[in-house]
Amino acid sequence: MKVLRFNNGRLGISDGVKVVDVTDRFGGEEWPPVGINRLIRDFSQHRAAFAALLASSDGVPVDAVRLETPVPWPNKLMAYPVNYHDHAKEMASKGLASVQGYFLKANSSLTGPQDAIELPALSGREIHHECEIALIIGKEGRQVAPEDALDYVFGYACLMDMTIRGREERVFRKSYDTFTPVGPWIVTADEVPDPSNIDMKLWVNGELRQQANTRDLIVDIRNMVSIASSASTLYPGDIIATGTPAGVDKVLPGDRVKIDVAHVGSMSLQVVQGDKGANVVFEKPYEFVRAE
Ligand code: MN
Repeated sequence: MKVLRFNNGRLGISDGVKVVDVTDRFGGEEWPPVGINRLIRDFSQHRAAFAALLASSDGVPVDAVRLETPVPWPNKLMAYPVNYHDHAKEMASKGLASVQGYFLKANSSLTGPQDAIELPALSGREIHHECEIALIIGKEGRQVAPEDALDYVFGYACLMDMTIRGREERVFRKSYDTFTPVGPWIVTADEVPDPSNIDMKLWVNGELRQQANTRDLIVDIRNMVSIASSASTLYPGDIIATGTPAGVDKVLPGDRVKIDVAHVGSMSLQVVQGDKGANVVFEKPYEFVRAE
């Protein structure tokens, strides 16, 4: 099943073709927008009713709604750094996920599949796409063992970890507004037959830039959940960005970036130039050099 948000904070369930609105079961529209967190927490109690509802309702076509980022207000948006060997090589990085652990991105960087990526007004800096898979946590847990970790994964989504290249604080370089598109929905974990075998791809203007499979992860999905939970209690709706493979590169105004994750779906975002974002930190130019 697909779980999604649409049309200014409505909560929906979907089979990929139609959307059935279940907002009123989870408190209606609200601020902060955490109804989806409750839906995720309580999903197992509602699963059978949702399946029946999807089977019996006309709903509205997915194409007729405006999809939004599935979890706009998670307790945490975690991300693993260098988690594919080929990306470590191109960045000449020894800071592998296995020796660094996770970092955080600002929740306010989250956007949806029909939002634009707004480039900050930073001349002299490259802003790169990173093609990633998002894990959405389904239940509260601390010190989760790797063998139990998949019980804590509610579902999967496409995620782009947009990044300003430079030497400044990673959190700052990755936390600009619109720098974490997630979507087009969350696919529940039962629809992903093997989390250690998920293909993903990213194109810019139709040109394939990145391609990988989760079998090539340095820290795999079970261990990402386990390591994160050793430090921090995980809560329903938490998001883990699982890392990007080789092929990161700059995006420019007017580009269209498409990501596809097997069993999940795809989303295609427009890149636009914004007029905000300049500050003293990024005044100094930085030249990105790909290692050979
Ligand atoms: Mn990343």
